Amino acid sequence: MSKPRVGIFGLTSCAGDQLAILNCEDELLDIIGAVDLKSFVMAQSDNEEKEFDVAFVEGAVVTEENEEKLREVREKSAILVAIGTCACWGGIPASANGIERVELYRQVYDTEEDYFKCGRTVLPLKEIVRVDLSVPGCPIEKDQIIAAVGSLLHGVSPVLPTYAVCTECRFKENRCLLVKDDLLCCGPITLAGCGARCPSHGLPCKGCRGPVEEPNAASEFDILKEKGYTRHDLEKAFRTFAYSIEIPERA
Ligand code: SF4
Ligand code: SF4
Ligand code: SF4
Repeated sequence: MSKPRVGIFGLTSCAGDQLAILNCEDELLDIIGAVDLKSFVMAQSDNEEKEFDVAFVEGAVVTEENEEKLREVREKSAILVAIGTCACWGGIPASANGIERVELYRQVYDTEEDYFKCGRTVLPLKEIVRVDLSVPGCPIEKDQIIAAVGSLLHGVSPVLPTYAVCTECRFKENRCLLVKDDLLCCGPITLAGCGARCPSHGLPCKGCRGPVEEPNAASEFDILKEKGYTRHDLEKAFRTFAYSIEIPERA
């Protein structure tokens, strides 16, 4: 049986998720041995842009070129996997959505010129094409990408966490930074999978894995409001990685 043809692509991104794949040192050779790696610009120079059984795409759609590339990859791929929170939710690049661009360019670059041609709304992949699987994380977790590749090679969907960071945090018996220390922790509505990394080191969760599917945002916001946080604080915290998250009217 021929090996599945795989492509790994980056749109506008920091390349952290592609690096996370390269950092799977122990497993990388097994993965490469099991697939026919047709395109991975970061790792090889001989790349083919034909048909793919599975395409992994990192990054958000920031420019027209990104959108064109994404549509082209989608067309050529049987399965498209969004890797990293930028690809799944827009991530950090999308946190500029809703901010007046001319003002942003003036403040950051002291110009009103859009030299980077990125004046459009930044979007995650799912807003433009069909996405078959989302593996969020900033960057993605090594065990999850290995599980995803392994499952896809066997023709099944990987089982990824669907619960919130708080669940992992409680398993670890961490002190709750929200309840005990009044810190703005995004753990209750953020997708688990990182082992509650930040709260385990005494830092509140910043929501870098994006929200759970049906976040109970209203009760999280009520608790934070009681603790004196404003709507602006909530928007800033919760929309850093997932610009489209709904902030309830009453917050
Ligand atoms: S999700 Fe994080 S690691 Fe991945 S491209 Fe975006 S900023 Fe980089
Ligand atoms: S510290 Fe944060 S993640 Fe941990 S239980 Fe409290 S709210 Fe949840
Ligand atoms: S605790 Fe929150 S911010 Fe920290 S790695 Fe996990 S999801 Fe990201």
